[in-house]
Amino acid sequence: MSTNGTTRARTDDRIRIEHPADHVLRIVLARPEAHNAQDVRMLYELNDAFDLGAQDDDVKVIILAADGRNFSSGHDLNEDWPGGPLAAEGGSGRRPVGCWGGFSQPGAEGWMATEEEMFLGLCWRWRNLPKPTIAAVQGKVIGGGLMLIWPCDLIVAAADATFADPVVAFGVNGHEYFTHVWELGARKAKELLFTGRAMTAGEAHTLGMVNKVVPREDVAEATLAMARDVARMPSLGLKLAKQSVNQSLDAQGQWTAVQQGFSLHQVGHAHNRELHGTWADPTGAAVIRDLGRRPG
Ligand code: ZN
Repeated sequence: MSTNGTTRARTDDRIRIEHPADHVLRIVLARPEAHNAQDVRMLYELNDAFDLGAQDDDVKVIILAADGRNFSSGHDLNEDWPGGPLAAEGGSGRRPVGCWGGFSQPGAEGWMATEEEMFLGLCWRWRNLPKPTIAAVQGKVIGGGLMLIWPCDLIVAAADATFADPVVAFGVNGHEYFTHVWELGARKAKELLFTGRAMTAGEAHTLGMVNKVVPREDVAEATLAMARDVARMPSLGLKLAKQSVNQSLDAQGQWTAVQQGFSLHQVGHAHNRELHGTWADPTGAAVIRDLGRRPG
């Protein structure tokens, strides 16, 4: 139900749900002290919130926003991902949203299953929600942070927003939702991946990766104004328009390419585990730290 003008906060400590206007649901990442790093709990709370928006017939548009200086620093590298909460079962109370199993299996099997479920699987679910989604972005968006905004339909960026996927430094091809080429074009996608450098909001706008760039203090209102415009349209028209665009991407082979990118990503992890005994090339952290010190 929409409670226009009021905020309905849940007890979760990773996200917050708001109803800022009629027919608009806003999901807010609420872990600013950790730069909204995504742990398992955040991902599944986010998924529950998207489902809530999808299934509430009063909601026509969903905004994804974030508290704090930075939108998201990516996946929480302190989290014990493979064989973690899903495999432990019982206590977590979480059930996989996909049909994969084997999360606690040793070797590449458990790792791949975990990433299939929590990374690629969740992103693809959100990409296919039957309602328009708008990301409102400020500050840094790094690696897995892009995996939250790229599945959204529209993106409003603060002028200070920067976008980077530096994980080639970890010895993989990029983050797990490999839509880079559609978001940036092949040439710029290669630049982003090969150099690891952050792209500015202005650059992203020029490439068509974001819809609009506004001053930092105007992001929330500009996003809400866009959401209100969208909410004037009939829900079926919106659903059909979204499906038509997504199916055009599918006809171009997007889903096939994303799955191929994911498979190559798993080769990278398996290689690192064989050579280094861990999922990432150990030289990568220093490279990424150095990139983070440079201006966008
Ligand atoms: Zn991975």
